[in-house]
Amino acid sequence: MQTQPKASHFIDGRYVEDTAGAPIEVIYPATGEVIATVHAATPAITEQAIVAATRAQGAWAALTGTERGRILRRASDILRERNHDLSVLETYDTGKPYQETSVADATSGADALEFFGGMAATLTGEHIQLGEDWVYTRREPLGLCVGIGAWNYPTQIACWKGAPALACGNAMIFKPSETTPLCALKVAEILHEAGLPAGIYNVVQGRGDVGASLVTDPRVDKVSLTGSVPTGRKVYAAAAAGIKHVTMELGGKSPMIVFDDADIESAISGAIMGNFYSSGQVCSNGTRVFVHRAIKEAFLTRLAERLEGAVIGDPMDPATSFGPMVSENQMNIALSYIEKGKAEGARLVYGGAKLDREGFFMQPTVFADVTDDMVIAREEIFGPVMAVLDFDDEDDVLARANDTEFGLAAGVFTRDLARAHRIAAGFEAGTCYINTYNDAPVEAPFGGSKNSGVGRENSKAAIEHYTQLKSVYVRMGTLEAPF
Ligand code: NDP
Repeated sequence: MQTQPKASHFIDGRYVEDTAGAPIEVIYPATGEVIATVHAATPAITEQAIVAATRAQGAWAALTGTERGRILRRASDILRERNHDLSVLETYDTGKPYQETSVADATSGADALEFFGGMAATLTGEHIQLGEDWVYTRREPLGLCVGIGAWNYPTQIACWKGAPALACGNAMIFKPSETTPLCALKVAEILHEAGLPAGIYNVVQGRGDVGASLVTDPRVDKVSLTGSVPTGRKVYAAAAAGIKHVTMELGGKSPMIVFDDADIESAISGAIMGNFYSSGQVCSNGTRVFVHRAIKEAFLTRLAERLEGAVIGDPMDPATSFGPMVSENQMNIALSYIEKGKAEGARLVYGGAKLDREGFFMQPTVFADVTDDMVIAREEIFGPVMAVLDFDDEDDVLARANDTEFGLAAGVFTRDLARAHRIAAGFEAGTCYINTYNDAPVEAPFGGSKNSGVGRENSKAAIEHYTQLKSVYVRMGTLEAPF
């Protein structure tokens, strides 16, 4: 496959290059090979994108929702038709196994384009009768939205931000993570092939400084970031200076509680999906697994048996179910947490090592006897490192589950329905699961509370974050004044 894109950026409906920008090498995580080089956007490139987007946005907003939606739905169909090639590219960009990318990336992006494409025609204001007089509201686009992505789901993030923004009549400039710059260019290309007017969806490459220059530009109306909490703090503060709208999808250290009456095989499936999918590089992962003391040893024994079934290797082989980390740096971060876990006295029950092969491969890793104060129970690792903690009592475990700065996701496994809903109500998290984990269908709101973010992606809720309401007061009779 040709992994080198035609050019680094996609602006005003076409590929654009400016080799004056710093080169960014794209590395295939399974081998460490350089598979493409792009250039960071220079100020001239970001200016070109901002000018194109602001110029094009008004005419896009003036189309009917049906017209805008038709283009998004056409793009969704193209994404599905090209799912194989897009999945291979996603695997090159991220190292995630094809077994995952072929069902979770372009397909998830296509879902977002289809859902918001369908919703575009339904966006309305409301009518408020006030006696003879009345008020009506107009749901208007924000204008120019900037999307900034993390490296774990480059196609999905490009679509989750782009689809609602465009459905609502906005223009978007998307900056992918420097680690995974390839997939968003394909999204832009496909949107234009589907009929999107030039300038409405643009992709510019670069590191944090390029993102920062977009966030601070006065012509930008909204910023939607997927990234870590420290980056979120910076971007939120910069956006606040310009009183811009924001959506912040940030990190987590989410709890998963397994009661002694749980279906243990399902709970282990949840723990595997919530810790080792995408080699653990998922924001909503349930990395603090609280297991009732009565079933702890049975849970750990069976978990270790099932981990033996992980197929680690060439991500392009459809049989592979566990791939490399996205980068050497991210692998080293995760390995350093494993050392911290050992030093703090946690019991290593599975994995723990780098694999002796090319690429950034490490083992899925499980620690037991983890306590709440250990670093591996408090900090987001963003790698395949599960911390298993014991508990005896429901109230106590809920309080411990909530004792974190984060609030992205949380899950509970139990056969007791009343308890399941009680726990879900008590969780301080934006996205909660009962007897499942890490589902993210486009129909449901997704996002965090506490330091894990503000705003919601997906679902009808996203519309609130890409539009603003204008109230129009209408008086039917004459207007009086005191003088
Ligand atoms: P980072 O926070 O490092 O980066 C996120 C994006 O922000 C990147 O594109 C980065 O550019 C850019 N950026 C960095 N600094 C600035 C700045 N000052 N101004 C504007 N943009 C900036 O996150 P990672 O890419 O390392 O992704 C991992 C993190 O993302 C984890 O914490 C994870 O939990 C979170 N995440 C959250 C999700 C959610 O929906 N809640 C989903 C997926 C991931 P560059 O990388 O080029 O420096």
